[in-house]
Amino acid sequence: MSEVVDHLAEMTGFRDRDVMDVTLVSALRDLLEPLSVAIFRCVGEAGEQRWLTRAHLSADDAVATADPLWSDPELLPLVQDYPQRLDCMHSRAVVQGDIGEHCLSLFPIATDRDVVGVLEVISTERMTSKAQRLVSSVLRIYHNFQGLLDYSERDTLTGLLNRKTFEDSFLKAVSELPARAVMADTDDGRRHEGRSPRYFLGVIDIDHFKLVNDRFGHLIGDEVLLLLSRLMRSSFRFHDLLYRFGGEEFVVLMRCEDEADAALAFERLRLNTEHYAFPQIGRITVSIGFTQVRIEDSPASAFERADKAVYHAKDSGRNQVHSHAELVSAGKMSEQAQLSAMELF
Ligand code: GH3
Ligand code: MG
Ligand code: MG
Repeated sequence: MSEVVDHLAEMTGFRDRDVMDVTLVSALRDLLEPLSVAIFRCVGEAGEQRWLTRAHLSADDAVATADPLWSDPELLPLVQDYPQRLDCMHSRAVVQGDIGEHCLSLFPIATDRDVVGVLEVISTERMTSKAQRLVSSVLRIYHNFQGLLDYSERDTLTGLLNRKTFEDSFLKAVSELPARAVMADTDDGRRHEGRSPRYFLGVIDIDHFKLVNDRFGHLIGDEVLLLLSRLMRSSFRFHDLLYRFGGEEFVVLMRCEDEADAALAFERLRLNTEHYAFPQIGRITVSIGFTQVRIEDSPASAFERADKAVYHAKDSGRNQVHSHAELVSAGKMSEQAQLSAMELF
């Protein structure tokens, strides 16, 4: 009993979801002594969904393994390759099965909004009902704690991350940037810029949103915000960080290869929004500005560059995507940061 309580204390002692998943699998490995225990999350868009391993621990592993958050989705297994996990998610119930001569037990992992993944236990013998109850109870505590984290980190209307959490994620992204561009040798002996992580920050502002509120009322306005947040989820990759900054302003922190890829993703959102029939209202458009995150950036300085590009989009007719760097090189904007004494964050 005290062993269980110790593990629960450990699991809820962190505010970091990655660490929580690792402590959850470690706790269950110690308590149940199975062959392996793992958490898989279902990620990506309908039709193209895949399993992301959040934490995996075998009987004699010293440390848990996990897929990197920025995994290329195409390298992850497709959900349909593991139909029992899908059964578990769809039925929202424990699923038992076999893998060769071993026994498989799957438990759904849900948030208040959705079932998001499964916990998988592989053991030599079928799990007893007492052990199943133990896992279900630990998962309920995990679920409640995740709910508390969501409450403090997410916007209640859209479920996107809130502004408060932006600074930490931004600084984490900057800390991953190499001090200088990583140089790698090519086959022909020339040097070129290697694949180091690049982050892009985009600011999205709805065009003439005040008119929507004035004509249709705030409730319909809020519905538009919710629908736009869904369009954002489907336009970007699962690992891109999506924020509602307040009002009708949204921010995306994305990691991708280069400026052209970032531009494509933002353009995809612009088009998806333009073509979406918002109930009762019809068409709505967004203006988007984006910039590459630099090693010397503060959250406010990167935000200001992207925001200036949004202003340019508004001035040039709205329903457009603009890159700050391109505007500068085209002579349409000055590079100099005009960050005012009034801090944005
Ligand atoms: P622009 O194309 O220049 O962006 O025009 P706009 O009308 O969208 O102007 P602006 O971005 O300055 O307007 C923000 C408006 O968004 C003001 C307010 O009516 C509305 N708004 C802000 N927060 C909320 C919210 O939480 N819910 C709803 N329904 N409306 C909001
Ligand atoms: Mg605005
Ligand atoms: Mg607006």
